Amino acid sequence: MSLNLPYDPENIFAKIIRGDMPCTKLFETDEILAFMDVFPQTQGHCLVIHKQATATNLFNISADELFALSTAVQKIAAAVKASLNPDGIRIAQFNGEAAGQTVFHLHFHIIPIYQGNTTKSHGSGGPADTDELEITAQKIRTAL
Ligand code: 5GP
Repeated sequence: MSLNLPYDPENIFAKIIRGDMPCTKLFETDEILAFMDVFPQTQGHCLVIHKQATATNLFNISADELFALSTAVQKIAAAVKASLNPDGIRIAQFNGEAAGQTVFHLHFHIIPIYQGNTTKSHGSGGPADTDELEITAQKIRTAL
């Protein structure tokens, strides 16, 4: 059952942390990495992960690591709010395949919501244009 999977160091986010896979970075410290989702549900959809915690989901991260991660989520979401001026911001986190989780390295989604615009459903978005992702990322970075 995917809620109890062992951590797989070959998952896509582990590769991004190691630099084996590219990403459009927003923010990075020794502990935290925030980057743009390549299949965004809306403009500005981004992800925040803990770099050292080998946690597949919310149930196998330490309280200290979760504190660092959730503090970073608040910081990045505030920058999304300030830079993109959405009408709302959805923070999402999925545990287990049955709940919709597809990458088994704990992560939080930050999804700005714009009234009147379509919000793609989870897992249904096509790949974003890399240049457009970078333009949006640059706006968010300036608010950090
Ligand atoms: P989950 O379904 O596990 O909650 O979320 C995984 C997220 O990772 C999805 O929103 C998906 O679009 C995103 N994603 C999957 N592969 C990659 C990738 O290679 N790079 C980036 N930046 N995002 C990815």
